[in-house]
Amino acid sequence: MSTAPLNVKIYASGRISMVCQYCGRKSRPIEGPLDITTMSLGWWVTPYPAEFVHDFDGSTGARYTCPACARKPGVKRPLLTRGLD
Ligand SMILES: [Zn+2]
Repeated sequence: MSTAPLNVKIYASGRISMVCQYCGRKSRPIEGPLDITTMSLGWWVTPYPAEFVHDFDGSTGARYTCPACARKPGVKRPLLTRGLD
């Protein structure tokens, strides 16, 4: 099973984007670390330990939802967001 960090995109520069778990959209890259105080407004995060492996897709750690997907009917709202949606 892959241990690649599918839920985030880490660039050669060291900047980090969140990757939406539903549509694959990437957030604006930020200087790390990525957490609730630095993540893009309107994105949602479901926190998991960094080493946690999700069996269904092999991704690891926290899972992110973009503002558009968070508004879709039937999408379960993740736990935390920064700012209004
Ligand atoms: Zn999305």
